Amino acid sequence: MRRKLVAGNWKMNGTSSELDEIGKFRDAAESSSCDVVVCPPFTLLHRMSLQTRETAIETGGQNCHHLEAGAQTGEISARMLADAGATYCIVGHSERRHGLGETNDLVRRKAEASVSAGLVTILCVGETEDERLEGLTDEVVGAQISECVPKSADPENFVVAYEPVWAIGTGRTADGSQIREAHAFIRAECSNILGTGPADELAILYGGSVNPGNAAEIFAIENVDGGLVGGASLKGDDFAAIIRTYRD
Ligand code: PEP
Repeated sequence: MRRKLVAGNWKMNGTSSELDEIGKFRDAAESSSCDVVVCPPFTLLHRMSLQTRETAIETGGQNCHHLEAGAQTGEISARMLADAGATYCIVGHSERRHGLGETNDLVRRKAEASVSAGLVTILCVGETEDERLEGLTDEVVGAQISECVPKSADPENFVVAYEPVWAIGTGRTADGSQIREAHAFIRAECSNILGTGPADELAILYGGSVNPGNAAEIFAIENVDGGLVGGASLKGDDFAAIIRTYRD
C-alpha cells in the first residue's frame, strides 16, 4: 500500500499571523488516511513545528543547501531544517530550477543531502509549456528523474512530485490523460534507478493548481498518490477540503 500524501507549499508567503491557518486543517489531517505536511517559509518552520507537534501535521523545508554547514551566506542546510523540526524537504521546485537556475546536478546533490539528514525528500519534476508543445516532455522529465534521484532514495524517504510548469500557479491543470501518462512514465523511470519493487511503492504526487474542486478527480487517477499544493494550501479551509479527499 503506497503512502498517500498531501503537501502544502507556502512559498514566500506567511508571517506569524498565518500560523492560525493550521487550526483550520488540524482535524482534517487527524481524520484522513493520508500523510499531511506543510512547508512554510524558513522563518516560520520552527514555530510551526512546535505548534503541530501533537498533531497529524508534519512540517518541511521548501529547499536546502547541498552542504551540511560552512561559508554559504543566506543558505540553510538539511540538517538545520531537521533541527528546526522539519521531517520533509522539497527539492527541485520549478520556481528554483527556472527562476534561480538550479540544474539537475545541483538538485541531485540537494536530494542526497536531504535524504542523509533523515528528511522525506519531495523531488519536483516537470516540463515547461514549450517543452510539452515540442514533444519533449518525456525527455525532460526522464532526465530530471535519472539525474536527480539519488541512489539512497527509497519509498520511505523519497517522494516524486510531477508538476508541469505551465500548471503551477496558473489555474490550469493538466488533463487526466496527461497526468496518467506522466505518472506512469515517472514510475517506470524510477524503476530503472530503484528497481521495480521500490518504484512500485514510491509515492508520486501531482502538483499544479490543485484546489478543493478538482482534488478528488486528480487523486483518483492511476499512479497519483496525492498532491503538492501551492496557492490552495495558504487557505486553511481549502487545504482541509483537499486533505479530506482521503477521508477513510
Ligand atoms: C506548487 O507550488 O508546487 C504548486 C503546485 O502551486 P499551485 O498549487 O499554486 O499551482
